[in-house]
Amino acid sequence: MGEIQVPDHIVQCVVCGARFRSNLLLHRGYCPRCGGIVTVRYEGLSFRVDPSGPGIWRYASLLPAVGARVSLGEGLTPIQKLGEVLVKNERANPTGSYSDRASALIASYIASVRAGAVATPYVEDFTRSLLYYLSHADHIGRFIVVVSDVLSVPSEDVLYFISKGVEVVRQLSPTANFVEVDYLNPLTIEGLKTIVLEIYEEGVEVDSVVVPAETGLLAFSIWKGIQDLKELGYEANYEVVAVLVGERDVPNIISMTRDIRVVRVSDEEAYEATKKLLGKGIKAKPLSAASYYIGENLGRSIAVITAGFKQPARGRYVSEVRKVVREVLSRKSPLTAYNIWKEKPVFTLRGIYRAVKSMEQSGELCYEVSSHGKRKIKLYYLC
Ligand SMILES: [Zn+2]
Repeated sequence: MGEIQVPDHIVQCVVCGARFRSNLLLHRGYCPRCGGIVTVRYEGLSFRVDPSGPGIWRYASLLPAVGARVSLGEGLTPIQKLGEVLVKNERANPTGSYSDRASALIASYIASVRAGAVATPYVEDFTRSLLYYLSHADHIGRFIVVVSDVLSVPSEDVLYFISKGVEVVRQLSPTANFVEVDYLNPLTIEGLKTIVLEIYEEGVEVDSVVVPAETGLLAFSIWKGIQDLKELGYEANYEVVAVLVGERDVPNIISMTRDIRVVRVSDEEAYEATKKLLGKGIKAKPLSAASYYIGENLGRSIAVITAGFKQPARGRYVSEVRKVVREVLSRKSPLTAYNIWKEKPVFTLRGIYRAVKSMEQSGELCYEVSSHGKRKIKLYYLC
């Protein structure tokens, strides 16, 4: 770690209750006193939904304050009824993974502290999602992925890294200047908890939220979101059910709270559930399908399912940026592209320029030309 400074927030250990100030990335999520997991504490907590906030920023009042908000249209994933079970389909996120919720927050944080280089250990789905988000955030240059064994990385990930100019190393050089991002950190938890905020906001009447448990971080994050809502006096009385496949050990992070119920399914059951979901047109990983299977057995449940990485749909990002351009210009116009961005800097300046250009070509935006000395600038308004 070099010269990069990041702001401190208050975090609290869920095991021993210790509170201290920490930045939200470098801490790696563990309490220095007891090794417990730490989560963000808010002063003056409130739950105000901001429908104009893109993606997870709809819940900005329950997220850490950052200087720049990055969103590529993650969140607000559909809730579908499949047979007797409700399903929260996280595949609808830009890269097909719930990780996008965490990536939006982490990329925002990193853009806010203007870190020029980011290093992260390789984690399937997460690393690609984070890279996708960082490549859309300003101020990010180098991206370094630490792999223990390059052959264990799926080849589509390797090809994606090459296309993005990523550096792959086995070990980080201690002298290099970068921000190190672990999958397990307080920001990931805050980003992922937005899943349950959406379930609560939509007034879904269920007793349990069933999630696949690999690292246990998703189950823990859902639990944290429920704690935040309860602390504010909301009746978010959902039980978190973490689904494990086969004989795996209960992840440490799940054992750190007594409130998460652990349920096991066999490999055969996970396979059957995957087949069943595929028959309904949903491609899910066996672990995700297993949570659907458990939801079906429990009744009054919502199962969170996700799938592997999909190539991000550029269209969704573009339409989100255009929405912002329209919204700004309907409030105030004419404006230069730069001033549109200044009014609501939720996307990158480059993204706004691109959107304005294509909206001008499609005839959606009109402009008048104004002279600034020798320079002519375009002032845009909605036609
Ligand atoms: Zn502790």
